[in-house]
Amino acid sequence: MFKCFILVVSLWGIEMECPKCGSKWGVTNTASGGNYARDNILNHGRKLVGWFCDDFVIRIRKCTNSECGHRQYTIEIIIDDAKEIFDILCKEGFSALKIERKR
Ligand SMILES: [Zn+2]
Repeated sequence: MFKCFILVVSLWGIEMECPKCGSKWGVTNTASGGNYARDNILNHGRKLVGWFCDDFVIRIRKCTNSECGHRQYTIEIIIDDAKEIFDILCKEGFSALKIERKR
């Protein structure tokens, strides 16, 4: 059994909490799928969902608590795309990642 690590965040104005300490987890950088000038950020999303779509947003988040400072990437994708990705992976497993299915 494989695990899927896709974090879907799409609620405007709703702040995320740091998974380490619970403080505010602010956004320090954002890049969307079609922006090839931001490859260093976008490649994290391409590795995860690039076989399926280019329509995603990658955010770098950092904890505002200076004693914590936890930093991590999150991805935002259309929820119907997330459902389809999960369905494909559940049916086909990791071999699905070798087939490009961009629409
Ligand atoms: Zn924290």
